[in-house]
Amino acid sequence: MMNEQESRSGESSTEGRRGAKDRPRGSYDVIVVGGGVVGCAVARELAADREVLVVERGQIAGEATALAAGEITMSPSYTDEPGIADHANEFFRAYDGTGEFSFAERHSVELVPPDREGEARRRVERLADRGVAVEFLEPGAVERRHSRFDLSRFAGAVRHEDTGFVDPYTFAVTLKEDAEARGATILTDTEVAGLVTDGTGIAGVETDAGAFEAPQVVVAAGWRTEPFLRDRLELPVRPYRTQCVVLDPDEALDEDFPMGWVPGEHVYFRPERNGDLLVGGWSFAEDDPEGASDREDEAFRDHVADLVPGFLRAFDRARFVNGWAGVDGATPDTRPVVDAPAEAPDGLVVATGFHGRGVMTAPVAATAVRELVGGEPAPFPLSPFALDRFESRSRDFEFFSISAGD
Ligand SMILES: Cc1cc2nc3c(=O)[nH]c(=O)nc-3n(C[C@H](O)[C@H](O)[C@H](O)COP(=O)(O)OP(=O)(O)OC[C@H]3O[C@@H](n4cnc5c(N)ncnc54)[C@H](O)[C@@H]3O)c2cc1C
Repeated sequence: MMNEQESRSGESSTEGRRGAKDRPRGSYDVIVVGGGVVGCAVARELAADREVLVVERGQIAGEATALAAGEITMSPSYTDEPGIADHANEFFRAYDGTGEFSFAERHSVELVPPDREGEARRRVERLADRGVAVEFLEPGAVERRHSRFDLSRFAGAVRHEDTGFVDPYTFAVTLKEDAEARGATILTDTEVAGLVTDGTGIAGVETDAGAFEAPQVVVAAGWRTEPFLRDRLELPVRPYRTQCVVLDPDEALDEDFPMGWVPGEHVYFRPERNGDLLVGGWSFAEDDPEGASDREDEAFRDHVADLVPGFLRAFDRARFVNGWAGVDGATPDTRPVVDAPAEAPDGLVVATGFHGRGVMTAPVAATAVRELVGGEPAPFPLSPFALDRFESRSRDFEFFSISAGD
């Protein structure tokens, strides 16, 4: 491996065409396209023993990552693959306290409307038999533990362990700083225009700051991964828009106030550290991701204003503090594609389609990418993330909205 100084003096294969002497250029072991939470986690993981360059068209964590609610609900989301959830949860626990990063562990309550009670009880029984930490709580049991809840309209709640929340921006920036401390180079305000290939596969990338060489490229460009690779690889990934609002209640929430979700309403919630409540959800496929509004819909605010006082006390006169919306990439089964697909050029790795779970899945994606670039095997199966699990690669699939643990 070359150090940065040596590599920057190396000849780029497209230098002759660009003819620019003083533009940054060089060669690396791996180039990561995109400096969101996934790109930063991948860079940190690979920089331990490889020369890594991250190229980000804007600012680090400037897109979906900074807008995320920061919920970590891997255990309820991966009940079929507990090894994947455990890997993420162990990472967040171990990483807590690194720089400014902290992981707040809170259990979650999935509120169960009467028409879903039978299904929820059967699911809890099935999961508990398999050793998953879940239990069905009667409404009174929830209210005794958390006096803010009024579950008179619900049949109960499913309590999930091993959940929590993070500040996604701080998380991504901490990963990026760690990657740099391990020797990674981070280039911001630089767009990757395309991949460079030669007879044997990936040779590097073309950017608006010049060309960079690498035998391996990881495309972690969020929802933009699909249009970026469209000419080379068909990906069943489509953009969708999702939103959040923050409510300031009449009385601040307690320190142990849980996270949760209301499945039929497509809404999830978690406490803020200052005692406010963050409510997210209402996700819809988005055909114009570049032009999509970054404000929450009025209809979503009205929905939250109607819904929340129906299960939380002292929210009748809650104040709207803030709201926003952002775009992420969706897949047909809500799980990401993290793969080096056989039909792609050798050396191309894709990490996209995180479908509302990219922050919580970033440590898993990073470990998976390590295996895909020829590092040691991940301690969990990569098959749930393989592109060939989809029979159809069409982008025209029906978008499925998740509410945290669905
Ligand atoms: C409102 C909202 C709430 C959410 N809540 C949660 C949650 O609670 N928990 C959770 O885990 N997830 C949540 N998510 C989802 C999460 O934000 C995403 O899954 C995650 O951020 C995806 O990370 P990423 O790195 O793949 O993509 P991004 O954060 O979109 O980063 C991709 C980066 O690639 C860059 N890029 C794109 N094209 C190029 C190019 N050609 N050249 C260079 N750079 C390029 C972009 O500028 C961008 O910075 C939420 C998302 C939203 C919008």
